[in-house]
Amino acid sequence: MQSALELSQDGLDCGDGRFDTDSQFVRVSSDLRHAFLPAGDALDWETNPTSFDAMLLRFTYADGSEALIDVDPQMAARNWRANTRFAVPVPHAKAMLISIDAMIERPRALTTMTTARLVEHRVAAHTHFLRVGLTMLVGGMLLVPIFYNMWFYRALSARFMLWHSAMSAMMLLYVASNSGLVFEIMPNLPLHLRFQLNSLSMTLAIICAVGFTVDHLESGMVSSRWQRAILAAVSLVFIVQVVTLFDIEAIRPASRPLYIASFVPLGITLMGALVLAARRRSRAAVFVTIAFSALALLLPVALLEALGFIHIGAVLDDLVTAALVLMVLATSAAVGDRFMVIRTRLDRARNRVAQLSVMANTDGLTGLANRRSFGNVQRLHRSHGLIVLDIDRFKRINDSFGHPVGDAVLCHVARIMREALEDQPKATAFRLGGEEFAAIIPVSSEEELRQRAEGLRASIAAGKTSGPMEMPNITVSIGAVLSDGLPLAEAYSLADAAMYRAKSCGRNQTVLASDEIRPEERIDPLDLADRNMRF
Ligand code: GH3
Ligand code: MG
Ligand code: MG
Repeated sequence: MQSALELSQDGLDCGDGRFDTDSQFVRVSSDLRHAFLPAGDALDWETNPTSFDAMLLRFTYADGSEALIDVDPQMAARNWRANTRFAVPVPHAKAMLISIDAMIERPRALTTMTTARLVEHRVAAHTHFLRVGLTMLVGGMLLVPIFYNMWFYRALSARFMLWHSAMSAMMLLYVASNSGLVFEIMPNLPLHLRFQLNSLSMTLAIICAVGFTVDHLESGMVSSRWQRAILAAVSLVFIVQVVTLFDIEAIRPASRPLYIASFVPLGITLMGALVLAARRRSRAAVFVTIAFSALALLLPVALLEALGFIHIGAVLDDLVTAALVLMVLATSAAVGDRFMVIRTRLDRARNRVAQLSVMANTDGLTGLANRRSFGNVQRLHRSHGLIVLDIDRFKRINDSFGHPVGDAVLCHVARIMREALEDQPKATAFRLGGEEFAAIIPVSSEEELRQRAEGLRASIAAGKTSGPMEMPNITVSIGAVLSDGLPLAEAYSLADAAMYRAKSCGRNQTVLASDEIRPEERIDPLDLADRNMRF
């Protein structure tokens, strides 16, 4: 290797074709005789390590002296700079530095040669400090979507959230690996593994982003033909990635351009599907198009750079990282947006369900709880009474005054019941159907139950309520039972029987289930006929 440094400049191929398959070595020579170098300041020679097997640096000074530095690959780990480079301190000498020659064995990408530069040690250290802070900030930012997806996933188990978490995790790995921060955690990570980790984490982040896109777009937005095309393009990226991981000597110089070119079909199919989805007014497509826009713009630039047509240098690396960060941010916004849309729909549906459930349990005419609601009461609590109330001769009211007045009478009775139970929050009034009502009220004794039922009956008979229209005279018959934890069906049949006894005893009265009245003694033939018809 050292002898290669002795070759004259004329003997070196410094054209674009110097990176050839025949040679394992690449020599970079910099003539600094006409360069301005700050006198007295310590200098660093920096380059992007990508991956190499060995490197020899020769520093030549104006007095003819030379200094050789054997750079082992792990020096890149020891002297990493958070601008995707590593530094080699330039040996200090009294005379001016006039040239630097680098002989690199098996470099994995052109950037190892094209981004080499001299910097003041002080400035490099300052930049390193700032960029470590920036990397930590970006890393921290990438952690946010992982946690927020997990939080969202509990409320909405959508697969695109898993894709998004995986993408953010891969991006985190990429940022840690590409910046060199990974060496802080694993100082002995071999240089070639870090290089592979770089491209593998980026590939997986992009594959996860594609998975996210396909899952996140509203259903029917991407036809199965487009989905198959995207899948084929993703498979190509994956296959090329795996091939480059094996580091096959024959395709080594072409592996980087090949890797970048493998993203071209994916970019085309993805953007095609997104344009179609956007034309179908997909909301998600807008977010995802923004997410991929910067990467799509950088793809041809990166390809031209990898092919050696243009030299952009380290800025491209920063731009790619920024584009990947934009991808994570815009897709995070897409997740948030979808969550809000679904949440709004869910809230609306919940409100509707609540409204429907109220409607299903409410009597449409009187607004009291209805028969269904009454049926939902399984058992009466202890110290509760059940009152069953039926309007007397209601049919006659309908026949004499018409059904609208009959309806108004029903509402009037309901209003009186509501007012009578107002002071008892645990009491409920029901309309069981037709002109039959019920109430469940907390009472401690049969006497209290009788008082409450009588009070209700008297209020209805007196017509004591503020109604919009004059009511015909109405009376009600009441049957009541004090429950000792009875099932509702049993309590209802006892109270109902008591109510019929009240009817047969002359109506407009209250009878408790425990009252000893023999209806046969007081019943009039008309009532008996009525009753027989009911059964
Ligand atoms: P009794 O004193 O024996 O209870 O006699 P009644 O006339 O009150 O009893 P009956 O069961 O013979 O008549 C009940 C009537 O209630 C018959 C039906 O037309 C009327 N009805 C049922 N539901 C409604 C309603 O929603 N609105 C009106 N206006 N009438 C109704
Ligand atoms: Mg009636
Ligand atoms: Mg009735």
